[in-house]
Amino acid sequence: MVQIKDMKKSFDVEVLKGITLDVHQGDVLAVIGSSGSGKSTMLRCLIDLEKVDSGTVIIEGDPLVQDGVYVSQGEIQKLILKMGMVFQHFNLFPHLTVRQNLELAPKLVKQQDPKTIRENAQKYLSKVGMLSKADVFPASLSGGQKQRVAIARALMMNPDIMLFDEPTSALDPELTGEVLETIRQLAEENMTMIVVTHEMGFAREVANRVVFMDGGVILEEGTPDEVFGNPKCDRTREFLTTVL
Ligand code: ADP
Ligand code: MG
Repeated sequence: MVQIKDMKKSFDVEVLKGITLDVHQGDVLAVIGSSGSGKSTMLRCLIDLEKVDSGTVIIEGDPLVQDGVYVSQGEIQKLILKMGMVFQHFNLFPHLTVRQNLELAPKLVKQQDPKTIRENAQKYLSKVGMLSKADVFPASLSGGQKQRVAIARALMMNPDIMLFDEPTSALDPELTGEVLETIRQLAEENMTMIVVTHEMGFAREVANRVVFMDGGVILEEGTPDEVFGNPKCDRTREFLTTVL
């Protein structure tokens, strides 16, 4: 579904130092690692919020960028529509109701007919347990509710791959459960996902693969049992003792 080869990205300093990673259909890939290790930048490069400096990204068989050379803007737009992203800080439009937040992109980008859009909004709001809040504004929602709306909004575009960037990090502890439960449901429905998370219990239980990033590289990769139960690198072990 996603092939990343030797992806590099610098701002002032190099923050991705050659990331190589394959994500397969149905994978739930948990990405863990300390703050500043490049996790968000990696996700942002996949949906063209950042441009890589070099390397290759292939989405469902089609290149987004090959050896540092990007495909046309039209191709890029097509490819990033295959992915939905959920951010730490929800990024809902405050001046739109919950339902309008869901309906905006399908209207503007996909130009779907209003009836289909309305039905999909009902379907996805009910899926995340937010149908009763369809007509309120985001400000009146709890953080957990906002994040569930953000997930429903991403699903409206019918993505093949969902990217989550620390979806529960901005939430009070008592609200993380409802969001993790929603993500777990998607995993059970075989959605392909990359989840950057500090929730080690969740990663261990829901992910089928875990990647540990450190200083812009993937230091370790394996099943949850391998990475959590028997880490190969000292650095991984050290990280896990600080977060577990
Ligand atoms: P993580 O998500 O693992 O915490 P990030 O990908 O956000 O890490 O950041 C990796 C490094 O890149 C950090 O040192 C961060 O300060 C830097 N960085 C991220 N985005 C930018 C940017 N737009 N401009 C400059 N530096 C950035
Ligand atoms: Mg981050």
